[in-house]
Amino acid sequence: MPELRKDPVIGRWVIISTERAKRPHYEHGKTPPRSGPCPFCEGNESQTPPEISAYRPGGSQRDGPGWTLRVVPNKFPALMIEGNLDRRGEGVYDLMNGVGAHEVIIETPKHEVNAGNLSDKQFEELLWAYRDRILDLREDKRFRYVLIFKNQGADAGATMEHTHSQLIALPIVPRNVTDELVGAGEYFKYKERCIFCDIVRQEIEERVRIVAENDSFVVICPFAPRFPFETWILPKKHSSYFEHATKLEYVDLARALRETLIRLNRTLNDPPLNYLIHSMPFQEMDNGHFHWHIEMMPKLTQVAGFEWGTGFYINPMPPELAAQSLREIVP
Ligand code: ZN
Ligand code: ZN
Repeated sequence: MPELRKDPVIGRWVIISTERAKRPHYEHGKTPPRSGPCPFCEGNESQTPPEISAYRPGGSQRDGPGWTLRVVPNKFPALMIEGNLDRRGEGVYDLMNGVGAHEVIIETPKHEVNAGNLSDKQFEELLWAYRDRILDLREDKRFRYVLIFKNQGADAGATMEHTHSQLIALPIVPRNVTDELVGAGEYFKYKERCIFCDIVRQEIEERVRIVAENDSFVVICPFAPRFPFETWILPKKHSSYFEHATKLEYVDLARALRETLIRLNRTLNDPPLNYLIHSMPFQEMDNGHFHWHIEMMPKLTQVAGFEWGTGFYINPMPPELAAQSLREIVP
């Protein structure tokens, strides 16, 4: 059973998970080698754990072919779904059982390695899958947060090349989310406005860091990015929860997400990248000051001693220039 342990000084939780050590290894900078057929391809369903859910437009059999999107448990989970949290202390230390969900969302039945090649329709379906899984997992009272993320490319942490997203349901709210909640809360206390709404308004007006926009979403390179070409997608209309978006908003988001990937692919020659969704934790009341969004980070620089030692980042690429190059791409 994995364990969640809390750093007694700064309160950050870590997952100690020996299961993860068993997953496929790869050499730095290389696509993970594949022995035998890809377990994420249609026809190889028996090679994954039994599916949690799938979109099967023709009504085909579970764990067989005929799907357009499939959700399965991670074969090497960082957390285990069964069991109680059993929060406890050992002297100055706090820990609990590593209970959580770790799922893989297989985005297409065909062996596609770059999500930028999926269609708008496939992205819409992917967003619905994210939503369906969040709505299901938030019923489980052990969980306080679901993080949806994507690693694409070996250097961004992907051990499977077939395009997929991942989801981790956690019994604690991750520190990066808490930091944003606290920051947005402080701003709200002072100004009685949502900081993200103010950012959206100002960026649309100034246009220097805008990459693209449609009816419901704006894509920007943020004012103080940690990484070169860091890009955020924000809903124009205030909303705290990703899973509360409307059908029309998912249509617009699918387009914004696909086009942003294409812009990054063309500008940076298919870079390894990560994206993640930041949404309001489940047990918080929606008090008006958090605004869900997607953060996307191509992996072009290494996090090294200075960053680890200070918590701040040196970024050689001004977001104004990054936004300008991304804007010039016609997806
Ligand atoms: Zn495949
Ligand atoms: Zn807002």
